[in-house]
Amino acid sequence: MSQLRRTEHHIGGAARPPQGGEYFTSTNPATGEDLYEAARGTAADVDLAVRAARDAFEDPRWRDLSQTKRGHLLRRLGELIGENAEELARMETQDNGKLLREMRGQLAVLPEYYHYYAGLADKIQGDTIPTSDRRVLNYTRREPLGVVGAITPWNSPLTLTTSKLAPALCAGNTVVVKPSEYTSATVLRLAELVDEAGFPPGALNVVTGFGAEAGQALVDHRGLAKISFTGSTRTGALIAASAASRFIGTTLELGGKSPNIVFDDADVANAAMGVVAGIFAAAGQTCIAGSRVFAHRSVYDELLQRVADRARSIVIGDPLLAETELGPLAFADQRDKVAGYVDLGVSEGATVLTGGRATDGGLGGYFFEPTVLTDVDNSMRVVREEIFGPVAAIMPFDTEDEVVALANDTEFGLAAGVWTSNLSRAHRLADRLEAGTIWVNTYRAMSPMSPRQGFKNSGVGVEHGVESIKEYTRLKSVWINT
Ligand code: NAD
Repeated sequence: MSQLRRTEHHIGGAARPPQGGEYFTSTNPATGEDLYEAARGTAADVDLAVRAARDAFEDPRWRDLSQTKRGHLLRRLGELIGENAEELARMETQDNGKLLREMRGQLAVLPEYYHYYAGLADKIQGDTIPTSDRRVLNYTRREPLGVVGAITPWNSPLTLTTSKLAPALCAGNTVVVKPSEYTSATVLRLAELVDEAGFPPGALNVVTGFGAEAGQALVDHRGLAKISFTGSTRTGALIAASAASRFIGTTLELGGKSPNIVFDDADVANAAMGVVAGIFAAAGQTCIAGSRVFAHRSVYDELLQRVADRARSIVIGDPLLAETELGPLAFADQRDKVAGYVDLGVSEGATVLTGGRATDGGLGGYFFEPTVLTDVDNSMRVVREEIFGPVAAIMPFDTEDEVVALANDTEFGLAAGVWTSNLSRAHRLADRLEAGTIWVNTYRAMSPMSPRQGFKNSGVGVEHGVESIKEYTRLKSVWINT
């Protein structure tokens, strides 16, 4: 019998073993060692969880709670996350290989998300609408939807779950989360903190398991009022089709292939650091990775040199150590996928300027060297498709019009970076680039206050900011003949 620690589902405020009795193993990608066994969710578990969430939604302790008190609970949850930050950071580092340093940074701001929505909770309100008949009163109410199904990926489980959970609870909904099968641990711990904060049992339920099994069962469940998904564009399309057949809303945060553009008037040293951070942070496993780098021909050689030099000096290793700069990919198949893309790029005519090889980091893990590809163009799959690894394709350009056309020539539209000292150009590019987030002389900035939305195949709907509340509420129009 296995000696590994076991985790169960979290349903109705308690740990619940899987009804099918089966578990699956989660590994530490830095070492390849088995970490724990998670409950393998099936449709029966999902059904229990949705029912628990529905009961919580109708529970007077939740339904009749004042919006101010809802805010208090969110604030308390943020505080608890802060108090347990180190434990959560270490847990997620072991689960998905993200640097502990980076996780501590994420945990330092995570409470702010809950505090932001705590402040919004008592500001969700309707309007009084003028009518043509003064004896008739018409007003609107902004109401919660009901049970929200949330499906999240492995690259930032806590943060990406929070982007859904905080506004959904703020608006008075209840939630069932199906985390990625590669990273169940921290979302389960978050559910315990939700209970500890004083939310009614069932406000947040977590069913762990595989996408095609527990995930599909959740997406297809008739008890959901909404599906909020972060993950690949391919899975997003399946989810959108299922939701459309039942006319329920979706918020979809999907893939990206973001351009990072360096003009000849940029501070090239600074831009090179931005390019490196844009693609190599989290070993390139971020939806906003600046994986397509366009450099003006007059600064192309210098940028290439600087990025390649830095890439070669990046310290690969144990993500728990302070000196490590690049951790592993989250699982073996992901490492193989990245390696396959580099091979494909070479067969398409690309040159590997630096990196290009898988390594076990001396630890038995799933590492991949920071990689720079040159001799690439927009016709190649390695430039068109999301790799989700530490692989930058760097290309020269000559004119502003040309680079706008190249940058926009993609199915995705999540983010874009622009490096320039020309203010007018910065504004022009912010206007012309087809992406939901534009960064000028910076990359990766984000906050709970700032809405973000993927354009084109990168998504539907808004996360963060005041606008996200609309994603989790519906409008009712009330007419009263006075
Ligand atoms: P994925 O689509 O393979 O899986 C995401 C989640 O969906 C997992 O929990 C998985 O179990 C589940 N799933 C898979 N098939 C399903 C199905 N048929 N029905 C229901 N659920 C199913 O994505 P991933 O590999 O875990 O994550 C990487 C992707 O996420 C990348 O494309 C990345 O760009 C994207 N992402 C986007 C954002 C954003 O904000 N736009 C943020 C982070 C990651």
